[in-house]
Order: sequence, then structure tokens, then C-alpha cells
Amino acid sequence: MSQGTLFVVSAPSGAGKTSLVRELIESLDGLQVSVSHTTRARREGEVNGVNYHFTDVAGFEAMIQQGDFFEYAQVFDHYYGTSRQAVQVLLDAGQDVILEIDWQGARQVREQVKNAVSIFIMPPSLHELENRLASRGTDEHAVIARRMRDAVSEMSHYDEYDYLVVNDDFTTALEELRSLVISQRLTLASMRDRHAPLLAALLSQQASVE
Ligand code: GDP
Ligand code: ADP
Ligand code: 5GP
Repeated sequence: MSQGTLFVVSAPSGAGKTSLVRELIESLDGLQVSVSHTTRARREGEVNGVNYHFTDVAGFEAMIQQGDFFEYAQVFDHYYGTSRQAVQVLLDAGQDVILEIDWQGARQVREQVKNAVSIFIMPPSLHELENRLASRGTDEHAVIARRMRDAVSEMSHYDEYDYLVVNDDFTTALEELRSLVISQRLTLASMRDRHAPLLAALLSQQASVE
């Protein structure tokens, strides 16, 4: 079984990465999003085990001690992390996997997985970013202010990523993400891996044409 590709998606909070990734995985087969662990409070509408595995600080720190995390970081005073085992099982099953993680986590992933593909999503403006955080309606005013303060520092890491997408028009940004995943599946390395029997058969003998 060939291994899936690991995609890393980062963006400042409110840029639209969760909405884009949700639509992306619905529109393509063989692509799954990894469910992170976090110590932040659950938002209304979020479901444990679906949006995140909501964990207390003691539980999260125990997982750190046991080496359970593929990567983890502190973002907005909370812990966020990706479980090693969950990601490995999916990749081994040939699934492509998306991690929605911050820049610190993206760095840890790049160090461990050389062929990971990383994508940074930018909002069309700071003003629109604030509008989206406010209109999402999931966060208190103070939380939004904190996220806006941290947005510029998150975005300052954009040049560590392989690809940049600006989420102005949602459909356009989604199409751009889809093309990144599809083109990754067509690279020589990936095609060689998945189509080894076809390539061997095509090249095994002289074609006999009348
Ligand atoms: P949202 O980005 O506004 O939806 O807010 P969240 O609270 O869901 O996520 C906050 C930040 O944590 C985002 O920048 C994510 O990229 C980051 N994040 C989420 N899960 C993980 C994770 O497993 N590992 C790391 N390193 N960062 C994560
Ligand atoms: P993130 O996961 O990056 O914090 P979300 O996916 O939660 O961002 O998006 C933040 C808000 O912005 C949501 O209410 C979402 O519906 C909205 N949104 C996302 N993309 C766009 C877009 N291109 N145009 C307008 N609103 C958008
Ligand atoms: P939110 O609390 O709004 O869901 O996420 C806040 C930030 O945490 C986002 O920027 C998101 O990318 C980041 N984040 C979410 N999950 C993880 C994770 O598993 N690892 C890391 N490093 N960051 C994460």
C-alpha cells in the first residue's frame, strides 16, 4: 500500500481554514482531516471527537510525557496537538491527511516529514479577518481581540510554507486548494508509487503493432 501525503494548513484564526478544509475533504476522496487535541474550551456547536478531542491540561501533559504527540504547541495560552498514532494509521492506509495547525506545529512537521506539503491561507485584509471572527459568533470580544493581536505574528511566518492561498472569494480559494491536492497526486514520485504495476506493464515489452 502506498503512503498518503501529509498536507499542513495554517492561517490566522478567522481566515477560513476550517471552513475551506471541511469543503475540501467533502469534495475529494482519499483525503481526511486529523482531529487535534486541545485544552481550550469547547465552542457552542463543536462536538468532542469531531472538531477536537477536548482534553484537560493534566491529560494533555500526560500525553506529552508519553510521547503521544507528533507535534504540539501553545496557541493563545492553550495547548493544541496532533496525535502521532491517529495520523500514522491514516497515512499507512494510503489516505492523504490534512493537519490544520499553527506555524510552530508546521515547523515540527517539516522536520519529521520531508515530503509534507504546507499551505498558508491569508485573509484578504485585516479588516475582513476581524469581520469574519466577529460574524462567526463563537468567540467573546476579548477572545477576538487576542486573536487579532496574534494574527500578524502568525502571518509573519507565511514564507516558511510551500504554497499561499488568499481566501477572498471562498469558491476560488477552495478550487485552488483542490488543485494543490490533485497536482500533488500527479507528481512523478506519487504516480510511481501508486501506479507501479501499470508502469511496469507498459514498459515490459516492445509493443507489437500490426
Ligand atoms: P480557529 O483557527 O479560529 O478555528 O481557532 P482554533 O481555536 O480552532 O485553533 C486555534 C489555533 O490552533 C489555529 O492557529 C490552529 O492552526 C492551531 N491548531 C489547531 N490544532 C492544532 C494542532 O493540533 N497542533 C498545532 N500545533 N496547532 C493547532
Ligand atoms: P478559521 O478556521 O481559520 O478560524 P473559519 O473557517 O472558522 O476560520 O472561518 C471564519 C468565518 O469566516 C466563518 O464564519 C466562515 O463562515 C467565514 N468565511 C470563511 N471564508 C470566507 C470567505 N471567503 N468569505 C466570507 N466569509 C468567509
Ligand atoms: P481554534 O481555537 O480557533 O480552534 O484554533 C486556534 C489555533 O490553534 C488555530 O490557529 C489552529 O491552527 C491551531 N491549532 C489547532 N489545532 C492544532 C494542533 O493540533 N496543533 C497546533 N500546533 N496548532 C493547532
